[in-house]
Amino acid sequence: MTHRDYSAAVLIGRFQPFHNAHKEVIEHALDIADKVIILVGSSHAAPTPKNPFTFEERKDMILSSFSEDESWGQGIHVEPIRDYFYSDDMWLAQVQAVISNYIEDGETVALMGHYKDASSYYLNYFPQWEFAHTLPTMNLDATTIREALFGATVSRVWADKAPEGQPVIDDKELEGLSQFLMDTVPCSDGSPSVFEFINDFTKTQRFGRLAEEFKANLAYRESWDVAPFPPTFITADAVVTCGGHVLVVTRGGNPGKGLLALPGGFVRSSERIKDAAVRELKEETRIKVDKPVLKRAIVDSEVFDYPQRSERGRTVTHAYHIKLEGKLPEVKATGADDAVKCQWMPFVEVMRRADEFFEDHIHIINNFITS
Ligand code: NAD
Repeated sequence: MTHRDYSAAVLIGRFQPFHNAHKEVIEHALDIADKVIILVGSSHAAPTPKNPFTFEERKDMILSSFSEDESWGQGIHVEPIRDYFYSDDMWLAQVQAVISNYIEDGETVALMGHYKDASSYYLNYFPQWEFAHTLPTMNLDATTIREALFGATVSRVWADKAPEGQPVIDDKELEGLSQFLMDTVPCSDGSPSVFEFINDFTKTQRFGRLAEEFKANLAYRESWDVAPFPPTFITADAVVTCGGHVLVVTRGGNPGKGLLALPGGFVRSSERIKDAAVRELKEETRIKVDKPVLKRAIVDSEVFDYPQRSERGRTVTHAYHIKLEGKLPEVKATGADDAVKCQWMPFVEVMRRADEFFEDHIHIINNFITS
């Protein structure tokens, strides 16, 4: 076996999607380390235009880009890690736990990576490893690829109603997009490649739905371009619990169409934030509890301000924990876009379906029911 500088190399990334510059970083890792551990971030979360591919899909993209020959029989290990928007320490503990399955005490480890922007701050969190800075040789980033993908004109009536397997991108644009993808993501003759993977993805209902959401978010952000400063929106959410259940709604419109969410919405210019939370709760769920009773049942509140928590733009939410006692009060969804369905969901189901929640709503629920 060739002698390499490190026992292991670790690469953390979102790979949304996996592209040629990512591949180059892994090739470098294979040159310098006996094994390569790739941690795929933002896993176990609902798909969004920013995070369209599941962990399994990204793992397939990565592994299909390396033949056994290329990796010289070395192990490339790919593992999912989830985000903890409100606790870098929890995130770090998770990274350490996963890595400990692969690295023995005393082994030398190289952390691969490149400071691409402020979001790369986490590269400073691993003083126990040597940093192997991988300077970019390609002017390439995943955001541009997603913009090309979701910005393409979707030709079918409503993309999310197109039959699975039918292309939803305008035929004329498909050719240009294919050329762009061939230049930016791994391609191969015969065997599956990231290029083919994305090509197949453009024929799915998920693609159509996310393309629609991407354009809705873009239009929303552009509508504020006239403002002298980028706006910060204030919203209010209600975490209503009763006998081991949480009241959740299903979103009927974008963003997050079809995802589970907390009842809540934008604060009006003339109302208090707490009043907004109770008003939205009543409007979306028609919960059979009077407003003053709901207000008196507030046991906790917290601000959730992770800057990237919403793809519509900077949105700070104030969440109120309303703790009710006794029987589950009757609820009925309005059927409007913000809540096509509402239900009392047992805690265990909330945890089981954590990856179906909108934005950071599962983190908000966790904050209150685990404290
Ligand atoms: P990414 O896919 O954008 O990049 C992966 C790696 O490749 C990075 O080191 C990046 O700098 C490098 N890279 C990208 N383009 C390159 C180019 N052209 N040339 C050379 N190198 C290039 O992934 P990312 O955004 O850095 O992923 C970090 C992950 O960690 C995310 O999932 C993030 O959510 C997660 N995270 C979570 C927490 C938390 O939950 N508290 C904290 C920190 C990070």
